[in-house]
Order: sequence, then structure tokens, then C-alpha cells
Amino acid sequence: MYDAVNQNSYKESIRTQRVLITGGASGIGAAITKKFILSGARVAIVDIDARAIDTKAGILSSAEIILLGDVSDPSSMDEVFGELDRCFGGIDVVINNAGISIPASLADTSLEVWNRVLSVNLTGMFLVSQRAAARMLNQEDGVIINIGSVSGMVGMPHYLSYNVSKAGVIELTKTLAIELSPTVRVNAICPGYILTPMQEKEYTQDELNNLANKIPAKRLGRPEEIASLAAYLASDSARFITGALIVIDGGETAGGLASF
Ligand code: NAD
Repeated sequence: MYDAVNQNSYKESIRTQRVLITGGASGIGAAITKKFILSGARVAIVDIDARAIDTKAGILSSAEIILLGDVSDPSSMDEVFGELDRCFGGIDVVINNAGISIPASLADTSLEVWNRVLSVNLTGMFLVSQRAAARMLNQEDGVIINIGSVSGMVGMPHYLSYNVSKAGVIELTKTLAIELSPTVRVNAICPGYILTPMQEKEYTQDELNNLANKIPAKRLGRPEEIASLAAYLASDSARFITGALIVIDGGETAGGLASF
């Protein structure tokens, strides 16, 4: 039983966890992977990028299970969970982090792009959550953390498929939180701009500087800041938190026009 007064309980509860991180080879996923490994958890990562997985060195290479897989492919996810069953005998925490962004105006959004973004960012979370929840309900405990985005909460031109996928993540989180309560906790982290390869691919350094200037915190977020929040949400200290959307954006979405 978790003892709120005992300061060691937070670390103890992470140490015993078996954790799956999707998209764990880069950016936010890699920071989350590091955080859990350093906390003593047993960590599995799955990623679609074979090259990124191959070049993983240092702390990331000490993840116990490192798999090549596509979250949007049901048979690939069956294999991943089969491996988790074999090696871990179950799963305590799933971080649904894998995601892609393909910016395009409405006119330029092909059906192929629309389907791909939704299938990775939203269908992937459904497929992973379904397989994780079956195991968590069976073992009578578990935590699912979905990486959403503030982009699922406000409109932003040229990111239709991405924004719609992230809005879907919010509803997936709330519905599963209720359906799986009280056994499995389901929460979403909604980051603002976090400096990762995804952002470095989409923006020039000048654009990133301009963005940082508009954010009340005057900087972009760091992947490690998302990792700390994920570790907290996975711990017993967060046992009363479920169905929550936690925005971590340096104040970006706090104001609106009224704040100028
Ligand atoms: P990233 O591109 O650095 O990392 C994403 C990882 O997911 C990569 O390793 C990639 O290979 C993997 N991936 C992509 N498609 C996959 C698939 N089908 N199956 C398995 N793995 C797959 O991006 P990031 O910035 O670290 O983003 C991580 C998550 O955070 C995403 O869901 C993204 O939408 C979300 N997010 C990022 C930001 C940001 O500013 N960086 C803001 C809000 C939300």
C-alpha cells in the first residue's frame, strides 16, 4: 500500500515497474526511456526506425527489450505484446508516445497523408492500449500515459491531420479512463513546443527562436521535462489522477488574445 508520508514510495513504485515506451528511440520517447531506466524500471521500447534503434548507445541500449515495430500495424503489436509476455510476464506502464507530423494545407493534405497520420497517432494508441488494458485488467493494476499535444486543444493552420489525431487522443484518454477505472489509470500529457528531432525537421533555427519568444516561458520545452511528468504520473504518488489532460507548454495556451 502506498504511504504518502514515506518519501521513498515514489521511487520504490517506479523501480518495480515493467514499462513499454512506443517511439522510444528519439526525442521525448528517448528521454522517457532514460528516465525510467535510471529509476530502475524494467523497460521495453518499440520503434519503427531501424537505423535509430541500431545506433542507440549508452543508457538507451540498456533497455531490456528493444523491438522494431509499427504501432499502426495490429500484427506488429501482437508480436510486441507476445514478447512482453515472454520476457516480463506482463506490463505495468505503457507510454503511448510514437507519433508523426506531416504539415500541409487543407488543399495539399492527400488522403494518404491523412490516413497515415491518423493511423500512427490515433489508431496506434488504440491498438497498443487495447492489448495493454487486457493484461492490466487481468493483473488488476496498470497505468497508460498518452502523449497528446496542445495541438489537439486549439486550432492551428496547416496541421489538420496532426491536430485532429491529437484531439482524438484526448477523447481516447477520457473514455478509457472511465471504462478501465478503477483498475487502470489513463492520462494524457499535452506538451507545447518541445525541442526534439520532430521540431528540428519542421522549423529553421530562426523560426524556433521566434516561437520561443512568443511563449511566456521564453523558451521551448525539454524532452526531460516531459519525462519527469511521465514518471510522476506512472508512480503511486499519482494514484488519484486518471482521465486528466496535463498541459506542459510554458504558458503557451494559457492566454489567447486577452493576454496581449
Ligand atoms: P520524434 O520524431 O523525435 O520521435 C518520435 C518517435 O516515434 C521516433 O523515434 C519515430 O521513429 C517513432 N515512430 C514514428 N512512427 C512510428 C510508428 N508507426 N511505430 C513506432 N514508432 C514510430 O518526435 P517527438 O517530438 O519526440 O514526439 C514524440 C511524441 O510527442 C509524438 O506523439 C508527438 O506528436 C508528441 N508531441 C511532440 C511535441 C514536440 O514539440 N516535439 C509537442 C507535442 C506533442
